[in-house]
Amino acid sequence: MLRFGHMALPGPLKRFFCSIANATTVLLNPTERVITIKNATNEDKKMHFPLAWLRDNCPCPVCYSASSELRNLKMMDFCPRVNAVSVQMSEQSESMTVSWDDGHSSSYRLEWLRAVAFGADTAGRQRPPLTRNRPVLWCDASKATAPIWQPKKVRFEHIMKSDAELLLTLLELEERGLVLIEDCGVDSEVVKNICKRLSFPRTTHYGETFEMRAEAKPRNLGYTSDRLDFHTDLPYMHEQPGVQALLCQVQASGPGGDSLFADGFSAAEHIRRSRPDLFRLLTTVPVRFRDRGQLADRRFDLVATHATIELDCQPDGEWCYRRVHFSNQQRDLLQAWPLADVQLIYDALKAFNDVIEGRDISSDSSKVQLQVKLRSGEMALFDNSRLLHSRTGFSGERQLAGAYLLWDEVLSRRRTLESQLQIGRQD
Ligand SMILES: [Zn+2]
Repeated sequence: MLRFGHMALPGPLKRFFCSIANATTVLLNPTERVITIKNATNEDKKMHFPLAWLRDNCPCPVCYSASSELRNLKMMDFCPRVNAVSVQMSEQSESMTVSWDDGHSSSYRLEWLRAVAFGADTAGRQRPPLTRNRPVLWCDASKATAPIWQPKKVRFEHIMKSDAELLLTLLELEERGLVLIEDCGVDSEVVKNICKRLSFPRTTHYGETFEMRAEAKPRNLGYTSDRLDFHTDLPYMHEQPGVQALLCQVQASGPGGDSLFADGFSAAEHIRRSRPDLFRLLTTVPVRFRDRGQLADRRFDLVATHATIELDCQPDGEWCYRRVHFSNQQRDLLQAWPLADVQLIYDALKAFNDVIEGRDISSDSSKVQLQVKLRSGEMALFDNSRLLHSRTGFSGERQLAGAYLLWDEVLSRRRTLESQLQIGRQD
C-alpha cells in the first residue's frame, strides 16, 4: 500500500499528487516506477526520477561516501525493484524525502534534484556533458574557399605560470588538435616538465621521453633524414597515448626538416561526403599494425587492430569522430581481410592518404594539412588520435625530443582547471 506522509492511500492507486509551495506537485507513478516533480505553470519543467535510480543515488552517509565522492551502497544490498512507500516534500528544508520498502529513507535536496533530473518527457534523458569537447574541423567542407586555419602560438613561460593560459591551451588542443609552444629552450627536460604541467608523461618502449635524430641503423623510420609518410604514432597499441609533445632541439640549417600536420577528421569528413562506400570500409575494416624490435636490452613486439576512422556513436544516433589510426610503415603484412575485399580496402586507404596529401583533385589540400618549420626551442603539442604528422626530408643535423600523454589524464586536467577557475559546468 502507498502512503503519503502519514496518510494511508486507498486501493490500487496508480498515481497520486501532492501540492507543495509554488504550485509544485510531486507524483509517484508505481506502474512506471517513476517519481515526477512538476510545476503547474510550466508543463515543460517536469522532472522525472526513476525509483531504482533514486534509491541507487541516495545521498545519505550510509549509501554515499562524501569524502571520496563515490557510491557506498553495495550492489549486493541494492534491489533495483525497490518500491517507494511514501514521498514527502518539505518546503522548509527544500527537500524531498522518500521512504523505501527496504526500510531505508532517503532525503534529496531540491536544488540537487533540479541539476540531475531526467528530461521533460518519459523518453527524456539526463544530459551529462560530453566526455570531450567536440572537435572543430580545420576544413569546413561546406565552405570551399575558407582560409586555412592557423595554429595558436603560446609562450612556454605563460603555460608554466598561468593556470588560465594552460586551460586555454588545453581547450585549443582538444578542439583543434594542435598548439605551438614558443621559447621552450632546448633541454630535453623541458618535454618532461610540460608533460608534468599537463598531467604525466606516459612511458612507452621508447622511454618516458625520447630523442629523435638521423641514425645510421634506424630502429624507426623517424630516425632517418628521409621524407616520411603521414602517420599517427603508436597505432600498434590499443591503449594508445593520444597526446604528443614534440620539441625541436636542433633544426636543419638548410632546406627541409619542416613538420607537416594534417587533420584526420577533416580528411575523414571529406571521404564521407565524396565516397560513402570507402568511408564505410574505413570505419569498419580492422587494420592490423605491428612494431617489433629491440631497444636497449629489451625486445618488444606490439600488435593492435583498429578501424582507420573510429566514430563515437551515442545511443540516440548522435556521433562524432573519435580517433584516426594510420601508419603505412607499421601496417602489418598479415590482415584478416576477406579475399574479395582486399582490393577495395587498398582503394580506401589510398583515397584517405590522397586527401591527406592533397592529391585528391576534388579536395582543397591546403585546408587539410599545414606545414611549419619548427625553430629550435619551439614545441608542437598535438592530438595523436586525430592529426597525422610527417616531415620533409633534410640534410645535416636535426634533433627532436618527444613524449606522450594520455587523453584521459589531459582531459581530467582541463576539467579540474575549469572547476578551479570556475569556468564551464560545475558539479
Ligand atoms: Zn541511504
